[in-house]
Amino acid sequence: MSTIAENISTLAERIRSAAQAVQRDPASVGLLAVSKTKPASDLREAYDAGLRDFGENYLQEALGKQAELTDLPLIWHFIGPIQSNKTRAIAENFAWVHSVDRLKIAQRLSEQRPPALPPLNICIQVNVSGEASKSGCSPEDLPALAQAISALPNLKLRGLMAIPEPTDDRDEQNASFAAVSTLQAQLGLPLDTLSMGMSHDLEAAIAQGATWVRIGTALFGARDYGQP
Ligand SMILES: *Cc1c(COP(=O)(O)O)cnc(C)c1O
Repeated sequence: MSTIAENISTLAERIRSAAQAVQRDPASVGLLAVSKTKPASDLREAYDAGLRDFGENYLQEALGKQAELTDLPLIWHFIGPIQSNKTRAIAENFAWVHSVDRLKIAQRLSEQRPPALPPLNICIQVNVSGEASKSGCSPEDLPALAQAISALPNLKLRGLMAIPEPTDDRDEQNASFAAVSTLQAQLGLPLDTLSMGMSHDLEAAIAQGATWVRIGTALFGARDYGQP
């Protein structure tokens, strides 16, 4: 078995045991493979080991890999910060966007979504770590943003996404993810998605209701951002 295939089976076991610990069906937790900085060949290996959903943070890098992998039926998720001038390419080339945190970006994605494609699945990124995080909508602004996005024609608001400040303290992890889950419930909208949990905290996220865990390091190994 390749390292990536081995990592996927280790992750499947982590997800299974975290879900069972809170009487959740493991099948209700999706594994989103976060492939930023990794070559298309790694995504192909993950596909061969059964994964279909891939998350990318950088548009140009993602488009390059999409072009190399057109022979595979992959589902692409955009999970990085979004600049206005990138919305058209995102609307045209992804099935999901997890990192919407302001209305202007959502409006552009809706306007620019090609009519031949199904609605773009959207998660609102919410900031539950206060000043420690610069991205994400504030909990105060969330209800109005969620209402406004729900009304946009070519988007389907699915739920919330969060990247809490990293900590090894399981109680702190639980508290952050529980806050996201509570915010979602308070919206009173028909939402089915909580995108939360990464390599180091997926167990806490699953305990608090995650439906996508976004995993990079534990799947593909450490990332190397260094320039040669
Ligand atoms: C990089 C990244 C991840 C994956 O993080 P790991 O700790 O490597 O699992 C998940 N979500 C987002 C938004 C990311 O940018």
